[in-house]
Amino acid sequence: MELEQLKGVGKASVEKLNQLGIHEVTDLLFHLPLRYEDKTRITDIADAQGFQYAQIEGFITKSYVTQGNRPILVVEVADDSSSIQLKFFNFYYSQKLKMKQDLRIRAYGEVRWGMQGKEIIHPEFELSPKSKLADSLTAIYPKTEGLSQKLIQKALIQSMALLSKGELQLSELLPAQWLSSQDLPTLEEALIQVHTPAPDTNLTALINNQHPGQQRLKVEEMLAHFLALHQVKSQAQSHPAPELPITAQQAKSLTDKLPFTLTGAQQRVVAEIHKDMAGQLPMQRLVQGDVGSGKTVVAAMAIQAALSHGKQSVMMAPTEILAEQHYLGLQEFFEPEHIAFLSGSIKGKARETVLEQIATTAQVVIGTHALFQQDVIYRDLALVVVDEQHRFGVHQRLALKQKGADKGEVPHNLIMTATPIPRTLAQVAYANLDISVIDELPPGRKAINTVLISNDKMPQLAERIIKACSAGEQAYWVCTLIEESENLRAKAAEDTYQELQDWFPDIKIGLVHGRLKGDEKKQIMAEFKANQIQLLVATTVIEVGVDVPNASLMVIDNAERLGLSQLHQLRGRVGRGNRQSHCVLMYQGPLSQNAQTRLQTMRNSNDGFEIARQDLKLRGPGEILGTQQKGSMAFRLSDPEKDAELFETARALADMMLKKHPENCKKLTQRWHRTGQELAKV
Ligand code: ADP
Ligand code: MG
Repeated sequence: MELEQLKGVGKASVEKLNQLGIHEVTDLLFHLPLRYEDKTRITDIADAQGFQYAQIEGFITKSYVTQGNRPILVVEVADDSSSIQLKFFNFYYSQKLKMKQDLRIRAYGEVRWGMQGKEIIHPEFELSPKSKLADSLTAIYPKTEGLSQKLIQKALIQSMALLSKGELQLSELLPAQWLSSQDLPTLEEALIQVHTPAPDTNLTALINNQHPGQQRLKVEEMLAHFLALHQVKSQAQSHPAPELPITAQQAKSLTDKLPFTLTGAQQRVVAEIHKDMAGQLPMQRLVQGDVGSGKTVVAAMAIQAALSHGKQSVMMAPTEILAEQHYLGLQEFFEPEHIAFLSGSIKGKARETVLEQIATTAQVVIGTHALFQQDVIYRDLALVVVDEQHRFGVHQRLALKQKGADKGEVPHNLIMTATPIPRTLAQVAYANLDISVIDELPPGRKAINTVLISNDKMPQLAERIIKACSAGEQAYWVCTLIEESENLRAKAAEDTYQELQDWFPDIKIGLVHGRLKGDEKKQIMAEFKANQIQLLVATTVIEVGVDVPNASLMVIDNAERLGLSQLHQLRGRVGRGNRQSHCVLMYQGPLSQNAQTRLQTMRNSNDGFEIARQDLKLRGPGEILGTQQKGSMAFRLSDPEKDAELFETARALADMMLKKHPENCKKLTQRWHRTGQELAKV
């Protein structure tokens, strides 16, 4: 049914509704309330809690306008229990005149604690109230500029009336038996409960988003999400992949080269990968492991499986420095002449030589996003490893995936990330991937000792750096510059570099930043690795992956500017050897509450997963997953953390629906606008 058929909805409002993704009346029914206002009762002022919405009623005891350059109208109201101040920052003089002493007033708004006790800023109010109390909760909807709350509310009340009269058809897509086994209402019942809650509704449940009607809609929303990601996965697996079983002997020939034995967690994850690669379907696996958990060797074991069949592998890293590290690192495992390296800074003749290698002899190809440019032709690509996946867009990964597609076979995919996402969130956000977790650090690692100091304590810090360097240790100095352009960032890092040279005339200092040429970066990193540079000044380009075990001290200046996961990534550059490592978080005071919590979390924990949980609390799932994933996590009702149990239920339901009711699956994703295409952007 057309939106314009609703009373009060004209052309202009239709346009606005379209912006909210609402195109017909049924869409409107899935435009769910953000929250509810409870105007069904009057709360005693004494019982009104801070930071909660309440409706109060009493007599005006006083009303006045404060002096000062921004006058405030203050209305004091008392009931039998207590008193409260209503405050208006924008008001008309006529309004002030109406607020007469001894007049009754009813007001609704958020109660806060002000200087003079409880107050409500800009309440809704009614003088000498005559209207009846509402007999059900008032639903408040998400809106957009130019569309009033009243209009949406009225449109919804009409749509619900049409639904109950049977003039609007909505098909129930969940099996009745399943619903009753879960004690959940039908779709129609759920919509009624949510949009037009009956007077006897359990208000607390509704306000807390836990009402059975809401649960029912959440399950359906989550189900649509899982079904859409299932679609993404089956698309990715719609072509076969080469079967690449690896023998124990072939695996051993690589582990024999290691100066250590794999941890239990590494062995388990390697087994999961090898099992995938032995199958006919392309592996779609995400390996999560905290910084320093040893993901590189796990990737090498995957590459070994491809290699044992003479097939090509590619490993892609987000930065030149990191790609370079992998290039050096993997030379210890594989024949250097069979490893090719390609990055954006390799050009002209040199590039042609590498392309030739990739098309013929190279068995392992390592590099940056330059690896998936159009003219890079692979000989026989069977495995794509993407390191630090959160830095890549999907298109890039897809482009790379195409590279092996000519024989009808697609490569296996392995994605590695050091951003530990809490398991519950990962299972929702990456439902199109199988997930392995390396949940153990190599033995003998000492927890990094983290301290916070304000940046006026430079002299003490300098002493510490001199001591460490003269004892043969190495240190990082990370500049967390907020300048927009890479040029300005480089300039600021250079300033720090100059400054530190004044502080430390006897220490050999190096500088890396994003503006350096590939060769220059390479040179400096090699010198740092060889301990020819003792103190490395760097921008956050070193955030991911760099491995210099002898570096045991890290200073992060203006650490308060960074988020938790970025700080954790940076800190992971030290603590890689057997030595006690230290991380100094320098900050510019005074700190905001949020920055304080962040820095304290860093001081108190070394566990990436614990830090990620805190980060989730501070920033919410969208920020944790990065902008690319935000869209996929834009649930209307559901919350991956709070509704973790329900997500489990929905996941099981998705399996059942795919098996028993495949015809409803597409309708479900369409109803919730969760299409595979949209989510494949993840
Ligand atoms: P990340 O997971 O951060 O990529 P790396 O793969 O860079 O970690 O490994 C960190 C360091 O730990 C490297 O120096 C690596 O050689 C070492 N390492 C990896 N696995 C083990 C292990 N099982 N025992 C001891 N050291 C290990
Ligand atoms: Mg790594």
